[in-house]
Amino acid sequence: MMEEARKVSDFGADVFGSEAIKTYLSKDTAKKLQATIQDGKPLDPSIAGEVAHAIKKWAMDRGATHYTHWFLPMTGSTAEKHDSFLEMKDGEPIMSFSGKNLIVGEPDASSFPSGGIRSTFEARGYTAWDPTSPAFIKRHSNGATLCIPTAFCAYTGEALDKKTPLLRSMQALDKSLKRLMKLFGKEPAHTGCTLGAEQEYFLVDKKYYEKRPDLVLTGRTLFGAPSAKGQQLEDHYFGTIPDRILSFMNDVERELWRLGIPAKTRHNEVAPAQFELAPQFEELNLATDHNMLVMDTLRNVADKYGLKCLLHEKPYAGINGSGKHNNWSVSYGGKNLLDPGSNPDENALFLTVLCAIIEAVDKHADILRASVAGAGNDHRLGANEAPPAVISIYLGDQLAEVIDRLEKGAGGKTKKADAMKLGVDILPVLPKDATDRNRTSPFAFTGNKFEFRAPGSSVCCAGPTMVLNTIVAESVERIAIELEKAGVAGKAKAGEHTAAFHNALQKILQEILKTHKRVIFNGNGYEAGWIEEAARRGLPNATNTLEALKALTKKENLALFKKYGVMTERELKSRYEILLEEYVTRVRIEGACARDIASEMVLPAVKEEYSATVKAFSLAEKVGVCCGTSALKEELVEIGSGLDGLKANIKKLDEALNGSDPLAVLVAMKALRTTVDSLEHKVADAKWPLPKYREMLFLY
Ligand code: ADP
Ligand code: MG
Repeated sequence: MMEEARKVSDFGADVFGSEAIKTYLSKDTAKKLQATIQDGKPLDPSIAGEVAHAIKKWAMDRGATHYTHWFLPMTGSTAEKHDSFLEMKDGEPIMSFSGKNLIVGEPDASSFPSGGIRSTFEARGYTAWDPTSPAFIKRHSNGATLCIPTAFCAYTGEALDKKTPLLRSMQALDKSLKRLMKLFGKEPAHTGCTLGAEQEYFLVDKKYYEKRPDLVLTGRTLFGAPSAKGQQLEDHYFGTIPDRILSFMNDVERELWRLGIPAKTRHNEVAPAQFELAPQFEELNLATDHNMLVMDTLRNVADKYGLKCLLHEKPYAGINGSGKHNNWSVSYGGKNLLDPGSNPDENALFLTVLCAIIEAVDKHADILRASVAGAGNDHRLGANEAPPAVISIYLGDQLAEVIDRLEKGAGGKTKKADAMKLGVDILPVLPKDATDRNRTSPFAFTGNKFEFRAPGSSVCCAGPTMVLNTIVAESVERIAIELEKAGVAGKAKAGEHTAAFHNALQKILQEILKTHKRVIFNGNGYEAGWIEEAARRGLPNATNTLEALKALTKKENLALFKKYGVMTERELKSRYEILLEEYVTRVRIEGACARDIASEMVLPAVKEEYSATVKAFSLAEKVGVCCGTSALKEELVEIGSGLDGLKANIKKLDEALNGSDPLAVLVAMKALRTTVDSLEHKVADAKWPLPKYREMLFLY
C-alpha cells in the first residue's frame, strides 16, 4: 500500500514541542516552559499543574489512555511503567494527570540493576522529568501512551540511570567552557553538545530467527559455518535496497517522522543483510533519547514485515559487525567549536579545543575504552575487525600537518621554517569531506566533529558521550587555569587578542602536543603493525571487557568523575559492579545456550547421520559390493570423530559453566563452535537443525 505523502507539518506531530506548547498552553505559561527548556532547568512547580493538564489534553487528542515516565536504567535499554489517566472520583470515572504525576514518579527500583546503591530495605526510586527532552506519544497497534522522558535516581539522589550522569557531564563541560571562553573575551553563552548517532543493524527473516534459539536468547549466532558467499564481492554496500527492506525502512522513517526524529540517511552496509540509519545531528540529550527510540522503532517495525532486527554487535561470525558511530561536537553560543573558522582568532579557539580533546583522549583512553565495553562489542574491538581496542585519534593529513607546525612554532621572535604562530597564521581550509577519510580509527576528526566509532550498535549513547564530556571538561578547565596563571586574562577583547595572550596560549598548546601527540595516528588501524606501534607508544590496549572495565576502579578516574560532579565514587563503583555482572551473565547465558543447542539439536542430527552411514556401510559389506564402501568408511570416520569431538566439547563447556571464569566459558564455546561448524558440512542439509548462514544472510 502506498503511504500518504509525508507532510512537513506532521514532523514531530507526536511530540509535545513548541507547536503543541503554543496551542495547548496560555501565553504566559508557554513562555515560562520554553525558558525552562532552554536553560535546562527543572520544571517550575508553579506551572506544573497547567503544563500537566495541557499535556494530558494533547495526549488524549492523540488517542493516549495511559502515561509513563520513560527512562534509561542501567540495563542499557529503556523502561516504562504505564498508568492509566483514569481515576475514580466520588464513584465517577475521570481522566486525570497532575503536576506531580508529570514532575516525579516513584517506580519500584528493586528490580533494576543498582550495583549496591539501593539497599534492599529502601526499594524506592524516583523518576524526574527532564524538560530538555520533550514528552512524546508512543503508539501501538490499537492505542497510544504518553511518554515523559525522565532521569532515574535512588531515594538518596544517587543516579540509577544513564541520563543523570549525562546531564551532569554537560553541566561540567559548560562550566569549564565558560571559564575558557571568558579568557577568549566571549560573552557568557550556552554550551551545546551535539550528537549524530549512525545506527547499524542486521535484518533476518523471522522464519529463520525463530528456529535459532541462539538469536532469540543472545542476539547472535553461536554456531554457523561460513556461507560460500559472504561479503567477499562487496556487492551489498550501497547496493540497491530490495523492495521489502525499503518498505520497512520507509515505515520506520514514517514513525520517526511523527516523533520528530530526523532520520536522514539509509543504505545497505558492508555485510549482507546489514543496513544503516543515520539521523541529522541534534542536541546530545535529545539525540540520545532519539537513538533509543530509533532502536525501538527498528525492532517494532521489523516485526510487521516478517523480519527481526538484530542490534547485536556481531550477529554472525566472519562478517562485519555493527557499530554505532557517535558523531560528537561542542558549540558555544550556537557556534560549533570544532569548525576551524576563518580568522586567526577563530582558528586559535578551534586549535585550543582540539588540543583539549587530544589531551583528554590520551589521558583517559582507558575510560573511553571502558565506556564502550561489553560482551557484544568484544567481538568487534580487538577482535578481527576495526576499530581496534586501542584508542587513538585520526586527524587527517592536513590537520596533522597544522598540529605539527603548531608544535614547532615558537612564540616571540624566533620563527622556524614551517612553524605556525597562533594569532598570526591562518589555518588552511580543511575540507569537510576529505577523500582520505579513515574508516579504521576509533576516534576520527571528520571536518567539524569527532566521530567516535568504537561504540557498539546496541550501546546507549549516554555512556560514551558522558565520558567524552567529562574528560574534555577537565582539559578545557586545565587550559583555562594555565591561561589565568599566565596573567593574560581579561586582556583579550572579542576579536582582538594581544600577542601576549597568543604566546601564552601557544606555549600551553605546544606542551599538550608534546605530551599527548602519541595518541594521534593517521595510519591504517587494521594493520597488525599498529598494535605493536601503539604498545611502543604506551597506549593502553584492553582487548576484552574484563580488562577494559578495570579503568572504572582506578583511583584517579574515581577522583575525576567526582571532581566534575558527574558521578560520586559510590556511583561509579556501582556502575563497575553492574557492567561486570552484566558481562558475566551474558557470557553465561551464551555458554548455556550453546551447550543446549549442541546437545539437544546438533548431537541428535549428527547421531542420525552417523547411524544412517553405519547402516549403509554394513549393508554394503553384507551384500558384498565392491565399490562405495571405502567412501562410506571414510565418512564414518569423519562423522564419528566429529561426534566424539562434539560430545567432548559439550562436556568441557559444561565444566566451564560450572566454574566462575567467563573467559574459560568463551574458550570452551569457541572449541565447541569449531566442531559444530565443521559438522555442518558433514551432515545432510535436510537433517541440519539450524538455519544456515547462506539462508539467513540473503534477504529478498
Ligand atoms: P558518514 O560518517 O557515514 O560519512 P556523515 O558525514 O554524513 O556520515 O555524517 C555522520 C553524522 O554526523 C550525521 O548524523 C550528521 O548529522 C552528524 N554530524 C554532522 N555535523 C555534526 C556536528 N556538528 N555534531 C554532531 N554530529 C554532526
Ligand atoms: Mg560514520
